Amino acid sequence: MSAVADLRRTVAELHRELTRYELVIWTAGNVSARVPGQDLMVIKPSGVSYDELTPERMVVTDLHGNLVEGDYAPSSDTAAHAYVYRHMPEVGGVVHTHSPYATAWAARGEPIPCVLTMIADEFGGEIPVGPFALIGDDSIGRGIVETLSASRSKAVLMRNHGPFTVGKDARAAVKAAVMLEDVARTVHFAHQLGKPIPIEQHHVDSLYERYQNVYGQ
Ligand SMILES: [Zn+2]
Repeated sequence: MSAVADLRRTVAELHRELTRYELVIWTAGNVSARVPGQDLMVIKPSGVSYDELTPERMVVTDLHGNLVEGDYAPSSDTAAHAYVYRHMPEVGGVVHTHSPYATAWAARGEPIPCVLTMIADEFGGEIPVGPFALIGDDSIGRGIVETLSASRSKAVLMRNHGPFTVGKDARAAVKAAVMLEDVARTVHFAHQLGKPIPIEQHHVDSLYERYQNVYGQ
């Protein structure tokens, strides 16, 4: 099976995780994967419901978002995904959702502080906020890349919009999106009850190093 055919199936299947973990409503949320060794990516088609996402309906574009293969138009977030792949060669997968708790932090423009070992493990520190950006040019992609490049986090909360997550492949980016929503919810609850306690930086560093070495291989 060719790399593209394989990724069409993987990306189609990973969209089911977005609905399973209730990260998306209607058609608003998307997964993409870089085709290794080629300037191509596989992404969700625009406006197709999650129940109807089959491998055949996935769309292949180049890394400028131009359609290469597929019967549907690519996701309206394709330009942002493509910008990330062009500027972050280590990234093999990108996910975007409007998952409610993470997006609530984005609405306040407030980073999620590193107050749980799970945040240190997966994100290596606080989860940063990216700039306000309108769809239609490179500004969302640029905001994602600039924010993630200044952080160890695999997730960025784009202000007044919602999260983008990245990973070495599409599955890792989906995992980050699921973990992000979970910690966004828990830290929200902690905030309602009082003041969450920050984890000291040296503990954050050792948690992150250990987790990435155990799970990152
Ligand atoms: Zn969006």
